[in-house]
Amino acid sequence: MESQKKYPRVYSFEFFPPKTEEGVARLRQTREQLARLEPRFFSVTFGAGGSTRERTFETVRDIQQESGIEAAPHLSCVGSTRDSIREILDAYRREGIRHIVALRGDLPSGMGRAGEFRYANELVEFIRAETGDHFHIEVAAYPEFHPQAPNAEVDLLNFKRKVEAGADSAITQYFYNPYAYYHFIERCEQLGIDLPIVPGIMPITNYTQLARFSDMCGAEIPRWIRKRLEAYGDDRASIRAFGEEIVAEMCQALLDAGAPGLHFYTMNQAAPVLAVWNRLDTGT
Ligand code: FAD
Repeated sequence: MESQKKYPRVYSFEFFPPKTEEGVARLRQTREQLARLEPRFFSVTFGAGGSTRERTFETVRDIQQESGIEAAPHLSCVGSTRDSIREILDAYRREGIRHIVALRGDLPSGMGRAGEFRYANELVEFIRAETGDHFHIEVAAYPEFHPQAPNAEVDLLNFKRKVEAGADSAITQYFYNPYAYYHFIERCEQLGIDLPIVPGIMPITNYTQLARFSDMCGAEIPRWIRKRLEAYGDDRASIRAFGEEIVAEMCQALLDAGAPGLHFYTMNQAAPVLAVWNRLDTGT
């Protein structure tokens, strides 16, 4: 973890672009509550193939204009052309956006167009070629390895390609086993990969949803956590209380070990994040 200790801690919160006016109003409230924690940035997800292009843009513009906190749009390249990505980058530059999360994305089944980019390293390369140093570029990292990677080492080398293409920092997929993160950082150090790798944190509020999502993205819920959550059944209050306790314990352990901050997957809700945050010594 030595390589990570030299970086200042960065806290950030991720939102998805709401679909309805009520969702927009609710997100505004969430944002106001989380802005009090003085995060470095709020990020906004982007539907692969451009499905949320307008809504991501509007959410980013609201954040930038209303919250006083930097907005970092996600941009996924699968199913996209170079021209469409160039247009999006230009639009963000005009809005004064300086921070971007560059991803490949996953096309929903049935949306078969591969587009002009195959992998995220090509997107990072393109952003650098088109816009020089304008953007701070974040990329995704997978301490438990990306589900499509043939093996762990190949995935790490693919992560290295994104770094070499010009990424400034990385955010991880969520995990509940901190040793997966420590080991990932150790392997990065051995491969000469040196940039801040911030753990992505998913608060636990709903077991069924979390289990489904974790299966899809290859994040493991350790057996002892799964068994506890399953046993709570419909008892949402107990799921939340247990979730807050173990997620906060893990976050504190990560920070104490030298993690350069935390990135929360908020699902547009402030309360589960605040419940974890209020138990932490974040050093802020
Ligand atoms: P890549 O880095 O391209 O990796 C994808 C797979 O291809 C891996 O298995 C990798 O090993 C392999 N690979 C990579 N490069 C090469 C290469 N050059 N040659 C051969 N194989 C290669 N998805 C969205 O749609 N929208 C979002 O807003 C979004 N936000 C996210 C935020 C974070 C922090 C994270 C961790 C994920 C996010 N995702 C999002 C999900 C992400 O798009 C998926 O996990 C996707 O499957 C991989 O994206 P990537 O950028 O990591 O891809």
